[in-house]
Amino acid sequence: MAGTVHIIGAGLAGLSAAPRPTAAGQRVVVHEATAFAGGRCRSYHDAAVGMTIDNGNHLLLSGNRAALGYLRSIGAAERLVGRAQAEFPFVDLKSGQRWTLRFNDGRLPFWVFDPSRRVPGTRVLDYVPLARLLWAPRGKAVGEVIACDGVLYRRLVEPLLLAALNIDPPLGAARLASAVIRETLAAGGRACRPLIAREGLGTTLIEPALEYLRLRGTVVRMEHQLRAIEFGGERVQTLDFGGDSVALGKDDSVILAVPPYAAASLVRGLEVPTEFRAIVNAHFRIDPPPDEPPIRGVLNGMVEWIFAFPGRLSVTISAGDRLIDTPREDLARKVWAEVASVTGLPETLPPWQIVRERRATFAATPQQDARRPGAAAAWRNLVLAGDWTDTGLPATIEGAIRSGNHAADLIANSA
Ligand SMILES: Cc1cc2nc3c(=O)[nH]c(=O)nc-3n(C[C@H](O)[C@H](O)[C@H](O)COP(=O)(O)OP(=O)(O)OC[C@H]3O[C@@H](n4cnc5c(N)ncnc54)[C@H](O)[C@@H]3O)c2cc1C
Repeated sequence: MAGTVHIIGAGLAGLSAAPRPTAAGQRVVVHEATAFAGGRCRSYHDAAVGMTIDNGNHLLLSGNRAALGYLRSIGAAERLVGRAQAEFPFVDLKSGQRWTLRFNDGRLPFWVFDPSRRVPGTRVLDYVPLARLLWAPRGKAVGEVIACDGVLYRRLVEPLLLAALNIDPPLGAARLASAVIRETLAAGGRACRPLIAREGLGTTLIEPALEYLRLRGTVVRMEHQLRAIEFGGERVQTLDFGGDSVALGKDDSVILAVPPYAAASLVRGLEVPTEFRAIVNAHFRIDPPPDEPPIRGVLNGMVEWIFAFPGRLSVTISAGDRLIDTPREDLARKVWAEVASVTGLPETLPPWQIVRERRATFAATPQQDARRPGAAAAWRNLVLAGDWTDTGLPATIEGAIRSGNHAADLIANSA
């Protein structure tokens, strides 16, 4: 198809939809409402800590095949770094116990049989009920499929699902938990190596994509918010950007890669997730101890994960809605007290920043999951993308990129 592809939204869904039509020689224009690309996955210079930080720590796993494919396609694969093995150090703040979970590479979970690799305090038989999650029916919550208690739950299942689904796990959609377990634990250690954008989300996932597009003549229009869509018959006819509008030719198409609330305001009758969960991140400007791992799980505290970056320690707290109204300095002090006790660093609060993303992800309940639309819309030249579309995954980078890839495929196949 020779027409122009208009991509609305320069988050990861929009950016990952762009390379395919660009490489096929189509004209592509990306329209982004704000002054920056990346959406919920971005870096910015923060005056309080005097350095560039990410809006939030983002963890990828080596099994995130679409995310890794995207990085390869924009020439940035080597910017994501991780250890050679799938290892997750943990500390329990209540008991003081420390251990490292070590998955073996292959699909057969030998690690479960090895007390030095599996979760301390668990037996092999404790892992068997997890298989029930693999075949969880649509519409059920995790708490209806497995018992959400016991040592294995507290030390492995809860931290894994809380991080992946961004919701108190018993309330989470079992089919999303199932997808996470199928693509991680059940796929073996080769799929579970933690990967981190050590130099920042911007330089890893966003700027290389913008550079890739720029070099190929793709226009990325910042501060160009789509205000309305005019539909006619089976097609989108006009994109209204307020100050200007674009009339679509018969071969032109639109990939709408905006968050669900924005999509619902632009497309009449579109059912989308309407509830969200927050993620709270605390960033501290301080050199991590030399032996601090890139990522560490923390149990029985407010802190859930500690990420170590050059000159900075950053903390993630998922489903952080309870902390949205906590005074920022109180939060920074409480979080730092835990970080100091885990790392052995001084208790004096270093320069800090708290970033609270209220609508970090849609609420991954069965009810909200059921409201996710597929990518194909009711209009022939309109396709939906975003982590909230029905990818079968929770709202993650991998889901956003798969949705972008899928949208690009639908456009290509409709030619
Ligand atoms: C703090 C935090 C931590 C996270 N941690 C992880 C993690 O560890 N691992 C992981 O895999 N995922 C994580 N995620 C989720 C991940 O960031 C998202 O799933 C992903 O970035 C969503 O991308 P998207 O393109 O679907 O949406 P968005 O990033 O929301 O992009 C949508 C874009 O559309 C633009 N837009 C909106 N309206 C308009 C309009 N009318 N016209 C033009 N443009 C418009 C927006 O400005 C935005 O740039 C985290 C998210 C947050 C917030």
